[in-house]
Amino acid sequence: MSTIPSRSELSELALDTARRCGVDVGSLTGDVTASSPVNGLPVASLTWRDPAYVDEAVTRAGEAFRAWQRVPAPQRGALVKRWAELLTEHRDDLATLVSIEAGKITSEARGEIQEMIDICDFAVGLSRQLYGRTMPSERPGHRLMETWHPLGVVGVISAFNFPAAVWSWNTAIALVCGDPVVWKPSELTPLTSLACHAVLAQAIAEHGAPEALSQVILGGPEVGRALVDHDGVALLSATGSTRMGRAVGPRVAERFGRSLLELGGNNAAVVTGSADLDLAVRGIVFAAAGTAGQRCTTMRRVIAHTSVVDELTDRLAAAYDRLPVGNPLAAGTLVGPLIGGAAYDAMTGAVAAAVGDGGVLVAGGGRVHEELAPEAFYVRPAIVRTDRQTAVVARETFAPLLYVLPYDDFEAAIELNNAVPQGLSSSVFTSDLAEAELFLSAEGSDCGIANVNIGTSGAEIGGAFGGEKQTGGGRESGSDAWRAYMRRATNTINFSGELPLAQGVDFTV
Ligand code: NAD
Repeated sequence: MSTIPSRSELSELALDTARRCGVDVGSLTGDVTASSPVNGLPVASLTWRDPAYVDEAVTRAGEAFRAWQRVPAPQRGALVKRWAELLTEHRDDLATLVSIEAGKITSEARGEIQEMIDICDFAVGLSRQLYGRTMPSERPGHRLMETWHPLGVVGVISAFNFPAAVWSWNTAIALVCGDPVVWKPSELTPLTSLACHAVLAQAIAEHGAPEALSQVILGGPEVGRALVDHDGVALLSATGSTRMGRAVGPRVAERFGRSLLELGGNNAAVVTGSADLDLAVRGIVFAAAGTAGQRCTTMRRVIAHTSVVDELTDRLAAAYDRLPVGNPLAAGTLVGPLIGGAAYDAMTGAVAAAVGDGGVLVAGGGRVHEELAPEAFYVRPAIVRTDRQTAVVARETFAPLLYVLPYDDFEAAIELNNAVPQGLSSSVFTSDLAEAELFLSAEGSDCGIANVNIGTSGAEIGGAFGGEKQTGGGRESGSDAWRAYMRRATNTINFSGELPLAQGVDFTV
């Protein structure tokens, strides 16, 4: 499908687009190459920061914090409101960069920027709703209440596959909560991060807020580690693989910092005998093959009742055969490239392991467009039918590889859903109210996200986002996730003129 843009076409498009967002592209020089998964070729050269630079950035952010925490929250919200307007102006530009650097198709890339605008709207409203509670005191003439205060510098480490939105989920909420943000984006998406930062920097300048409220530091994992270890970072919000979270979590804990971990998923849909299969097929194909299988919430397992598993597998395989795979910037494409060769190797390795375990490859799996773009990695999304949830099925393979497993008994399906180390997203397709309710109950899915009659991916910002077990336990975005970005003080106010002690303690001298 369509041609793949040449190195110069893509590089010019990337740099022009970044310039329109406010990036000083003339100053982009250095010996680090930024490449695009679209053609696998370089788009820009740039310089990574030394880990020592993190200290400077966090110090500056600490100074910004001292000023910003005094600004009333609704005024902080006004900055985020302006940011949303600028994001709306630059929506297509930022989406183009997301497509170039993360390989997302245009509608998904625009969706990612829309998510940024949505979280800004949410945060603006939140800026007038950072509620604390009052509780009845057990003592006469006393008031007991809690107050929420700005927390401090927030460090954000983000993954390649949501190169813009994840930072904005953190940043919009952090800014209204009174916190500056120091961002270490994925090394694979530097132009997107510079452009995102430039748009926010404009809003900050117009607002007259401290410049250091938002900083971006390009660099590799060692820059991330410096941020993780810095005592000046009050909250470290890290999104990426479980491997990364395993390294980051204990280090933040060791210095008694706060961490918010958003790690890998291995998300399943249970398709019951009463499911509307038309709906299930559409929901599964988007969740499993969309974004070329590179969302944390990508559906990786379908657990289907034996009465429907054959028909469902056939219909999924037929739909997979029709999926247009190619240049993500071209109209009509539904599946873009993998991020790189390592992802391709992981996918082919997982298919081979699953087949070795007795699975059958029923769709896709092969590489395409190799002749057009030998450095890029386009694959046909794959389906493996397997009877057992083997070790490879229990692993997150970050590629469009879907395992289909049969079940007989609904409780066993729930057990299979839960019998993986990750706990991010899950769904059930059913017309049976009891099955739906059981799946959502305490005895049901153990994931942070549990859906009915929709797939596992494509969450809205209004809810808290995140998952359990090796997904890390963090929650960000909507609902009351803002509390992670503030500190709580409990206040007791005595207006009685006496000094009664709690629990009836007598300490009369
Ligand atoms: P990754 O773990 O390779 O990298 C993520 C970020 O962590 C990068 O910025 C990287 O430089 C940094 N990093 C790596 N090791 C580090 C260390 N020891 N200390 C500090 N920083 C370190 O992940 P990726 O390949 O970019 O993204 C894909 C993974 O992210 C998948 O596992 C996916 O499920 C997960 N993900 C999770 C969510 C979520 O919300 N749960 C969202 C998006 C992606």
